Amino acid sequence: MSQESESITQRAKVLVADDDMNVRLLSRQCLEAEGMLVVEAADGHEALDAFVRERPDLIFLDVEMPGMTGLEVCQRIRQMPQGENIPIMIVTGSDDRKSIDDGFNAGATQYKTKPVNWSLLGRDVQYMLRASNAFHVLKRQEDRLRYLAYFDPLTSLPNRRSFNEQLNRILKRAQRHDSYAALLFIDLDNFKRINDSIGHGRGDRLLVEISKRLINELREDDAISYYTENSAENDPTVDNGASTEIARLGGDEFTVVLADVLSTDDVERIARRIMTSLSEPIPLQTHNPVVTPSIGIAMYPQDGENADSLVRNADTAMYAAKADGRSCYRFYNEEMNARSVEQLKLEEDLRDAMRNNQLELHYQPQVEVLTGSVVSLEALVRWRHPERGMISPGDFIPVAERTGQIIELGEWVLNEVARHCTYWDELGLDSFRVCVNISPLQFNQPDLLHYIRGFLERSGMNAERLELELTESAIMTDGESNITKLSQLKSLGLDLAVDDFGTGYSSLSYLRRFPINTLKIDQSFVADMNTADGAAIVDAIIALSKALNMRSIAEGIETEEQLAYLAERGCDLMQGYYFERPLFPEAVPEATRRDYSSQIQRARDTSKSA
Ligand code: C2E
Ligand code: MG
Ligand code: MG
Repeated sequence: MSQESESITQRAKVLVADDDMNVRLLSRQCLEAEGMLVVEAADGHEALDAFVRERPDLIFLDVEMPGMTGLEVCQRIRQMPQGENIPIMIVTGSDDRKSIDDGFNAGATQYKTKPVNWSLLGRDVQYMLRASNAFHVLKRQEDRLRYLAYFDPLTSLPNRRSFNEQLNRILKRAQRHDSYAALLFIDLDNFKRINDSIGHGRGDRLLVEISKRLINELREDDAISYYTENSAENDPTVDNGASTEIARLGGDEFTVVLADVLSTDDVERIARRIMTSLSEPIPLQTHNPVVTPSIGIAMYPQDGENADSLVRNADTAMYAAKADGRSCYRFYNEEMNARSVEQLKLEEDLRDAMRNNQLELHYQPQVEVLTGSVVSLEALVRWRHPERGMISPGDFIPVAERTGQIIELGEWVLNEVARHCTYWDELGLDSFRVCVNISPLQFNQPDLLHYIRGFLERSGMNAERLELELTESAIMTDGESNITKLSQLKSLGLDLAVDDFGTGYSSLSYLRRFPINTLKIDQSFVADMNTADGAAIVDAIIALSKALNMRSIAEGIETEEQLAYLAERGCDLMQGYYFERPLFPEAVPEATRRDYSSQIQRARDTSKSA
C-alpha cells in the first residue's frame, strides 16, 4: 500500500449506522484497530444527522432499522450535495437477488450480508476508501479537463472554443428576439514587443490585469457571465441568460459579445470605456507599462448574419483600427474589406520589391543652427512601385513591421548606407553622420548588437558616422534591461537618438540613465508650436536635452517662424522641407557643401522685427 493511500485510510472517518449495539461495538473495535475514526448512529434519523454533522468518509449502513430503513437513508444521502460520491456499504440479512438490487438502486456502493466477517471488515473498508479516492482524483481530473477545454487557465476567461459557443448562442437569441448584437475584437497594441521586453512572467500578469479590467468594466452592464473554476455556472454550453460575454482567444486577443444592443451608440459607449480602462498604466513592480487596445466592431445583423462573417469583419475592423494609428476603435464598413485585400497585395509586392531593387534610400540634411552647415543626414527609405509609383514609408513600414519583413528591409538599409558612404568618401567629402531608423521590431531582436557589430566589421564603416534612431516607446517599455542593451550598442562607438520624442511616455529616471546622444522632437509638436501647449512641449524638450547633455533636433521645419522660434530656444539641429527635402544620394555632396547660416540669420531677424 502506498504511503498516500495509507494515510488516507488512517485518517478516515467511518459512520456506522446499526440499531444493534453489538454490531456497532464490534465494528468500532475492528475499524479503530485499523486506525480509523468511528461515529455511531442507532437509527436512520441519527444516521442522517451524523452524516451532515460529521462528514464521514464512508458509511456502513444496516438495511433493517426501525423507523427509516437503511435504503431510505442511502437514497436521501445520495440526494444531498456532499453525499453524491461518498462510499456507502449496505449491510443486509438477506442475500437474495432482489434485496441486493434494491441496495444498488438506492445508491449503495457495496453490500455485505450478515453475519459480517469481522476479521475482514477493516480490509474491505480500506479497499472501498481507496477506490473512492481514486474516483475523486479521476473526477477532479475530468473537471479540470473540462475546464481546460473551455477556459483559458491564465485569465480564467472562456477560451476560443467557448467564444464560438457564446457567439452562436447570442446570435440565435438575437435572431429569435429580432434584436441587435455586437462583436468587439480587442487586440493589444505592440503586445509582442512589450511581452518580449518585460519578460513573459510579467507579460502574463499584464494579461491577467487586462482581463480583470475587462470584467470590471463590463460587469456594470448587468448580466455578464463570469465563470470561475468549479463554479456552478461552469458550463459555457448552457445559456445562462448573460447579455455580455468576454473571452480570450489567445495571445493578446480578447472578444466581447454584447446581446440585446439597442443602438451603435450603446456599443460605442462601451468601446470607449474599454479603451480608457485598458489604457491606464499597469503596475508591475518596477514597470508600469501602458498598453493600448485596438478594437474592431461588427454588428449583427448588418455586418454579418452568421458567426463566421461577423468574426471576419470584426477582425478586419480591428486591423483598420491598427492602420489608423492604433489605440482606437473602428466599426466595420465595407470599404475596409477592399483595404485588407490591398494590404495583402502590398505585403506580396513588398517581398518582390526587395528582390527587384524597387527600394531606394534618400537622405534628408540636418542643419546645425550654430554653424549653418549640414552635419548629418537621415536615411529615409522609398519604394518606387512599378504600377503605383512612389509609396510612402508611412504606408509600407507598418506592413513590413507586421509581417517581419522589416528585419530584412532594415539590413538592406544599413548596407545601402555603407555603400553610399564609401561613394561619398571617394568624392573626398568631409565626413558627416548618417542617421538610420531602427524599427521597434528590429530593436527587440536579441541579436541586434551582434548584427550591428558584424555589419560594422563587414562594411568597414566607421561607427562614429552612424547614429541609430530608436522610437521612444521601443526603448521605454523595458527601461531596466534596455539600459544594458543601449550601453552595449553605444560601446560599439555609434550614436543613439530617440526619434519622435514626446509622443510616447518617457520615464525621466530612465532617460537620465540611457546613453542617448540626441532627442528628436516629433514634428507634430513643431507643427503645433503656434499653440501654447505645442510651444510648451518644445520648450520642455529642449530644456530637458540641455539638462541631460543631449543634442536636440527638431524635424518637420517648414516655415521661417518655426525655424526662428526653435533657434531662439536653443535647439541644436533642424531638419525639414524648409531646408531640404530628402535627396538622392547623388545630390548629397552639393547639399553638404551648402551654408545655411544666412538663411537662419534672416529668419531670426524677421521674427525679431515682427
Ligand atoms: P521619421 O523617422 O520621423 O522621419 C521623418 C519623416 O518626416 C520623413 O517621412 C520625412 O520625409 C518627413 N519630413 C521631413 N521634413 C519634413 C517637413 O518639413 N514636413 C513634413 N510634413 N514632413 C517632413 P518619411 O520619409 O515619409 O518617413 C516616415 C516614417 O517612416 C519615418 O518617420 C520613419 O519612422 C519611417 N521610416 C522611413 N525610412 C525608414 C527606414 O529606413 N527604416 C525604418 N525602420 N523606418 C523608416
Ligand atoms: Mg527618424
Ligand atoms: Mg520622427
